[in-house]
Amino acid sequence: MTNKKDDTTLEKIVSLCKRRGFVYPSSEIYGGLAAIYDYGHYGTLLKNNIRDSWWKSMVQMRDDVVGLDSAIFMHPKTWVASGHVGGFNDPQIDCKKCKNRFRADHLLKEYGIDADKATLEEINNHLDKLREQGKLKCPNCGSTNLTKAKIFSLMVKSNIGSPTEEFTEENVVYLRPETCGGIYLEYKNTVDSLHKKLPFGIAQVGKAFRNEIVARQFIFRTREFEQMEMQYFLQPSMMKEKYKMWKELRWQWYLDNGIPKDKIKWHQHEKLAHYATEAYDILYGFKSLGGFDEIEGIHARGNWDLSQHAKFSGVELNYTDDGGEKFIPHILETSAGLNRMLLMFLDFAYAEEDVNGETRVVMKFPKALAPIKIAVFPLLRNKPELVKKAKEVYDKLKLDYICEFDDNGNIGKRYRRQDEIGTPFCVTVDFDSLEKSDVTVRDRDTMEQVRIKISDLENFFKDKFSA
Ligand code: ATP
Repeated sequence: MTNKKDDTTLEKIVSLCKRRGFVYPSSEIYGGLAAIYDYGHYGTLLKNNIRDSWWKSMVQMRDDVVGLDSAIFMHPKTWVASGHVGGFNDPQIDCKKCKNRFRADHLLKEYGIDADKATLEEINNHLDKLREQGKLKCPNCGSTNLTKAKIFSLMVKSNIGSPTEEFTEENVVYLRPETCGGIYLEYKNTVDSLHKKLPFGIAQVGKAFRNEIVARQFIFRTREFEQMEMQYFLQPSMMKEKYKMWKELRWQWYLDNGIPKDKIKWHQHEKLAHYATEAYDILYGFKSLGGFDEIEGIHARGNWDLSQHAKFSGVELNYTDDGGEKFIPHILETSAGLNRMLLMFLDFAYAEEDVNGETRVVMKFPKALAPIKIAVFPLLRNKPELVKKAKEVYDKLKLDYICEFDDNGNIGKRYRRQDEIGTPFCVTVDFDSLEKSDVTVRDRDTMEQVRIKISDLENFFKDKFSA
């Protein structure tokens, strides 16, 4: 077995995801819906495992973080207070020739201009300069016939509410564009009901919706996605120390989940939102996207969020410390995209190897994240005694692990399928098993096979999965 030259492309990952049941384009039988995806059996299992690993480290293992599951629909004033209604926009630019639409700040990035926090006027100034120099071209068709940049709101509207009520700009209910809004609104209930003392965090995982202008790169940027966010409430004097702590903890999470340190890096934001004091992103080096891109942000947000919600709701969102001092807590946020992380793990795991002149595609997920942990096969599907024994082994193992019973095709085909799903171990019951009560266990990564007594399987896998 030799590793093939690494030419992992997004097309290969997209194709594997569909072929093997990880991710499908949504509403495909109706022609699809741009930038919306459905997760099949293995995609759902993988996503749940990533989410659970995050939840374990962020909530289960910590005494200072509690969980929340807030609603997607929130009072319309929430998003006015947070600034989203007025300012959650992206600059959009259109090509008049090929009718493609782009994010103007992303287009400027291709010319080496950082317009991440630039105003529309600044963006148009940059574009005009490039236009004058004859450099501004459509990235799709090369035409120079591009519109001026204009602002496009990312907020997704809904029409929830009484059907008789006039649907005005003031009472628009949006689908939440981020999950942290729900956390800010439940700060007071959490303090009142759980009696949490600062510093403490509230974590939640849930759906968010953004009307992204350009939806491409598969599940990297979609209009419906899931976030895993934690807001840590603290005294301002603690921010420096806790910011350092959370940066280290979040970095370590990637290493603990098998991502090597040369595949991730920090990006410090130079231009900060007016309320923020520090902002770093964790970027992952995608083989399939050709470079490093953001997976998670860690932001020191000051007391802006709670101050705004206190102002707009008229409800005090203070904290009174043991000395009797009243203040609005400051917030440190860790915010990661679950689907983007899933793409990171797909990208990282995807490997092609040359085995006896044939290409083996194998998803080398870390064992703890693999959707299926163990596959069990009878050597032949038409031998009832083998099938019966294999079912017995399967029924026992599935009490502790997500397992799959597979008797389709020949053994070679089953291995190939399980390799593409990323199953760490395959157990085969053959004729010797009937006599000696043992099985063959094949390792996904080394392809080595060992004979193990059925009665020893429990301990064998306990060792393998705890290692
Ligand atoms: P970007 O600059 O890529 O648009 P952002 O800085 O707007 O992202 P945040 O608002 O900080 O992102 O959201 C936190 C995380 O949520 C991001 O790091 C990313 O992992 C995820 N995320 C944001 N927008 C999307 C999207 N449209 N699709 C999938 N994941 C997303």
